Amino acid sequence: MKHIAVLGAGTMGHGIAQVAAGAFPSVSLYDLGQEEVDAGLARIRQNLDKGVDRGKVTTEERERCLSALKGTTSLADAVSRADLVIEAAPEIMDLKRRIFSEVARHAPSDALFASNTSSLSVTEIAASLPRPDRFIGLHFFNPVHIMALVEVVRAEQTSEETLSLALAFAEAIGKEAVVVRDSPGFASSRLGIALGLEAIRMVEENVASPHDIDKAMELGYRHLMGPLRLTDLVGLDVRLGIAEYLHETLGSEAFRPPDLLRQMVAAGRLGKKSGRGFYEWPID
Ligand code: NAD
Repeated sequence: MKHIAVLGAGTMGHGIAQVAAGAFPSVSLYDLGQEEVDAGLARIRQNLDKGVDRGKVTTEERERCLSALKGTTSLADAVSRADLVIEAAPEIMDLKRRIFSEVARHAPSDALFASNTSSLSVTEIAASLPRPDRFIGLHFFNPVHIMALVEVVRAEQTSEETLSLALAFAEAIGKEAVVVRDSPGFASSRLGIALGLEAIRMVEENVASPHDIDKAMELGYRHLMGPLRLTDLVGLDVRLGIAEYLHETLGSEAFRPPDLLRQMVAAGRLGKKSGRGFYEWPID
């Protein structure tokens, strides 16, 4: 693989483009508007500068990564030479299907397509594509340049060759992969959301403060971060969307979104990105 295209330059897309540009010579970062593209590129520069300051990234690595990256607002331009297209647009099935049908018109016919969806069915996204066997889920974790895991999600139609190419890509960008069959929430979201929603119900019931619920999991169960702080980092709106989807598809009450979560999202308390969730956050 030489050319990687990343669609969506938001929280996940910019990070995916960054790790891809660390390992591949040409990475296009596409978003709808120039403002979003520039913001994504600026965040990558910021991450790399921080890496250099902390001695984790050399100045040569930073320059190589930046020179491999190209921002664009033209989808055709982004994907026309791509060996792999990774989509990181909002978590809406219709939107993702529309994006990939457009991509299929411009990308090479043997390009690999991947979605960073956290919970939607990759089998369903792949269904309307001319080459569903070339489709797979690559579920990254936030922040992408720091988190070691990528969940590789096999759609019903994914071929063995696509799976091995995806695993080779994960290895090339320095990630640890787990392979999961396409089922709602895969492995990580299904377990993580169940824990996060239960923690929110415990806040509703005044069982303990958010800080103490998180501390119980961090010190009692060796979680690196408690479920409420993690909810703040991911975004309460993102988590609400996933919970609604899992409740609908798995039918388990464990995934019914708590009223408190709905109220906080309605009030704009979305977590770190809005400055306030279960905790207060400084705005960058
Ligand atoms: P985000 O809102 O931060 O970024 C989405 C970006 O997509 C925005 O910049 C938006 O302008 C752009 N976009 C909108 N329509 C588009 C289109 N038609 N084509 C291309 N780009 C378009 O969202 P995010 O948190 O980065 O999430 C993106 C995907 O990654 C979702 O599927 C989400 O479920 C998944 N995901 C998120 C996290 C997380 O922690 N935030 C973790 C894993 C996976």
